[in-house]
Amino acid sequence: MIYQSTRDPALTASAAEAILRGPAPDGGLYVPSSLPDLRPALPKLLTLDFQGMAAAILQALLPDFTTDEMTALVRSAYTGRFETADVTPTVPVGDDYILELFRGPTSAFKDVALSILPYLMTASQQKCGVTDPVLILTATSGDTGKAAMAGFRDVPGTRIIVFYPHGGVSEVQQAQMTTQEGGNVCVCAVRGNFDDAQTAVKEIFASDLPLRLSSANSINIGRLAPQVVYYFKAYADLLRLGRVKLGDPVDFAVPTGNFGDILAGYLAKRMGLPVGTLICASNRNDVLADFLRTGVYDKNRPFYKTVSPSMDILVSSNLERLLYLMSGDAALTAALMAQLRTEGRYEVPADLLARLQADFFPGRCDDEQTKAAIGDVWRAHHYLCDTHTAVAWRAAQAYKAARPGAAPVVVLSTASPYKFPAAVLEGLGGSSSGDGFDLIDRLHALTQVPVPENLRGLRDKTVLHRDVTDIADMPAYVLKKAGEKEWNA
Ligand SMILES: *Cc1c(COP(=O)(O)O)cnc(C)c1O
Repeated sequence: MIYQSTRDPALTASAAEAILRGPAPDGGLYVPSSLPDLRPALPKLLTLDFQGMAAAILQALLPDFTTDEMTALVRSAYTGRFETADVTPTVPVGDDYILELFRGPTSAFKDVALSILPYLMTASQQKCGVTDPVLILTATSGDTGKAAMAGFRDVPGTRIIVFYPHGGVSEVQQAQMTTQEGGNVCVCAVRGNFDDAQTAVKEIFASDLPLRLSSANSINIGRLAPQVVYYFKAYADLLRLGRVKLGDPVDFAVPTGNFGDILAGYLAKRMGLPVGTLICASNRNDVLADFLRTGVYDKNRPFYKTVSPSMDILVSSNLERLLYLMSGDAALTAALMAQLRTEGRYEVPADLLARLQADFFPGRCDDEQTKAAIGDVWRAHHYLCDTHTAVAWRAAQAYKAARPGAAPVVVLSTASPYKFPAAVLEGLGGSSSGDGFDLIDRLHALTQVPVPENLRGLRDKTVLHRDVTDIADMPAYVLKKAGEKEWNA
């Protein structure tokens, strides 16, 4: 199996090359030219533990690596790093299930992929005989940045620069990033929103700076592939709980921003997992909900800062992969992406829209509804969810109302509620005055839900990163940092 650009099937790469590069050279994204069919393997695969499942699925998706190699990488990445040995526990909540993806070192779902990406990156360097260091550029809406730095911290042969929107992340998220230690990490705020930062990073990739660049965003296939694993894990959990028999569909509700997480669910489906509907949950930045209803993707609209900031995105990169995987048409994908660049909008053909609507169900929710959902879930089930999870929870309820009697729904929970304590407290009817750290304490006093270890000590950590730049100066910033021999010396 090889990888190819979504915009040109002739631009191919091995899995290791794709991981090293991030985006494809033409600005497209790497996709597998054909997807492995795991249906014959399911009866056995779904009895394995998380690590066994991860090794098998990742080996199938990234076949440059042998099973033994992948098993070793998985073991290094996941052993002892998560709060639970099964990495992504599935918790019954009412009639539904919450898939907890936030039990990792930085309390966001990005940890699942970013715990293993550094190992995949280093192994890919070796496979490709690359000896010069890789500089990882990452734009973050708040969670990728911290998780990526935690993963790449002091990994030999790598350096990482993270750009986050100035004033566009929660206080806790900002503190997590600006206190990050490590001799190879660099964090810089940008005056702009996530879309501006992501666009600028893509332009840096497309320009020919004399640097070996890669990405830790979900545009990197090495970031996306590990996210496929937990869909299988959740399905296996429902099998074990007796909630489904092998072959029965399970629906998944996914709080969506850059469309990486939900695309991983679609990949799982195409690989043979009995995934039913993928419920695509948006906050007030509902460009995806509109797209799935009408077939028109239009980013020419106001950008809102919401209480679910990791989903404050109007240009969802991985949608490009979906368009290609569903249409099989690279020329169409390239044309749509060119239109998005020049006009900020495109419309997909009717047959493609029909196929999208068969697999995906759109949901949207504003801040008041998000907070109300947090209060509802707490009062009804004594389960404390974060703002992003609440958006998906609400979308799941809307979906069940629209299609009664459907399959069980797994709601993907993407962050600890303690990363967004102000809005979560408001959802519970509490006061949100005070700084982020006081709010963590208050939320804990109110709910007695344990505070994750990594957030407990945050208040006392030293701020190490204070850089701020304009969007236009990002390329110069990257060049300057790349020229410095030592960081954080
Ligand atoms: C990144 C993120 C999302 C959105 O995931 P995408 O893969 O970008 O769609 C949702 N919730 C949280 C907490 C996140 O950090």
